[in-house]
Amino acid sequence: MNRTIGILGGGQLGRMLTFAAKRLGYRVVTLDPAADCPCGQVADAQIVAAYDDEAALDELAKQSDVLTYEFENIPLDSVTSLEEAGYSLAPNGHVLRITQDRVLEKQFVNGCGIATAPFAPVTSFAELEAALLTVGLPAVLKTCRGGYDGKGQWRIASIRDAREAFVAAQGAPLILEGFVPFDKEISVVAARDALGTVVTFPVTENIHEAGILAMSIAPARVSDAVAAAARALAVRIAEGLEIIGAFAVECFVLGDEVLVNEIAPRVHNSGHYSIEACTISQYEMHIRAISGLPLVQPRLLAPAVMVNILGSGTGDQLDGVFPLLSDPDIALHLYGKPHAALRRKMGHFTVVAPTLEAALEKAEHGRSYLRWVTL
Ligand code: AMP
Repeated sequence: MNRTIGILGGGQLGRMLTFAAKRLGYRVVTLDPAADCPCGQVADAQIVAAYDDEAALDELAKQSDVLTYEFENIPLDSVTSLEEAGYSLAPNGHVLRITQDRVLEKQFVNGCGIATAPFAPVTSFAELEAALLTVGLPAVLKTCRGGYDGKGQWRIASIRDAREAFVAAQGAPLILEGFVPFDKEISVVAARDALGTVVTFPVTENIHEAGILAMSIAPARVSDAVAAAARALAVRIAEGLEIIGAFAVECFVLGDEVLVNEIAPRVHNSGHYSIEACTISQYEMHIRAISGLPLVQPRLLAPAVMVNILGSGTGDQLDGVFPLLSDPDIALHLYGKPHAALRRKMGHFTVVAPTLEAALEKAEHGRSYLRWVTL
C-alpha cells in the first residue's frame, strides 16, 4: 500500500495523526505556513505555504491519496477550490462550512433534535438589543467564526457589557448565547466512515482554566444516562453531517440535560487520553475512517487523566520532566515547539491508573513538578 495522507495544518493534532498514520504504513505530507511545525517535524514532507496558496494546495493534493485537516480555521475557499478541482477531503467542505460558523452549527444541531443554549445571530447593535430580550441575561457574545480557546467571546451581564463587547468585536458577525450555568463540561469524540459506520469514544469531563482546556478526565464523572445521551447525540450528529473522519462534540451538562456547545470537525484535545487509555486512539480512528480501514468500537482500558502543558512565558526549557517520568503511570508528550509563549499548548501528559482517584492524584502531583525556565 504505502499510500500518502495529506494533512492541512501542522500542529500537534497533525503530529499525533502522523504517528498513527506512520504506524499503519502511510506516508504523510503536511501543509502549514510555519516551517518545522510540530507535524512537519515528524511527517515525510512539509509544504511550507499559506492555507490559501492555490499552487501549494494543488501540490499537496497531487502528492496525496487522501486529504484531511487538523485545523478547522483553514479558509473554506481553499477546501471548496480543491473539491472543485476534483479532489476530495475528509471531512468535506460541507462539514467545514457548518462547523466554521457558530450560527449554522447551532441551527444544524437543533435541526437534529438536539438542545443547545438559546441563541440569536447578531450583525448590528439593534440586533444585539433584540437578542438580549429573546436570549436573556446573563449571556455570552461570541464571534461566529474563528474563535478558539475562549478568544473572541465576552460575558454579558448588562446592556453596558453588551455595548463594550459589541465595540470590541469590531464589526465581526456575532452570536449571542444564553449563559448555561452548567454542572460540568464534557465531550465525546466519535468517528464515521464512508460506509456509515459510527463509533464513539468514552465521554470525557473537561476542566477549563481561563478558557483553555486544562485537564480531561475519562470516564467523565456523570451518570450512565448522561454519558449514553452524549454518545447518542454524537451518533446523530455524525449521521446528520454524513461526516467522514473523527470529530468531537463539546457539551454542557445541566442536571440530566446535555446541551451541545460546539462541534470540532477533527480530532480533539480532550481525546489525547485515548492514545494510552483506549484500545484504539482517536488518531488511529481518524486515519482508519478516512482511508477505508475498519472502524471498531474503542474500549477504555483504565481510567485516565490528561493534563495540558501550557507555556507560561517564563522560559522555553521544561523543568520537572525527571520526577514526572519517574511515575510509571505517566506518559509525556511534547510537541517540539521551540518557544513556550504564555498559554501556548506545548505538550500534555496522560496518567492511566487502576482507579480514577489515583489518576487524579497523580495528575495533580505531575502538574506540580512542571515549570518553564530559562537555562
Ligand atoms: P467555546 O469557544 O464555545 O468552546 O467556549 C469556551 C468556553 O467558554 C467553554 O468551554 C465554556 O467554559 C465557556 N462557555 C462558552 N459558551 C458558554 C455558554 N453559552 N454558557 C456558559 N459558558 C460558556
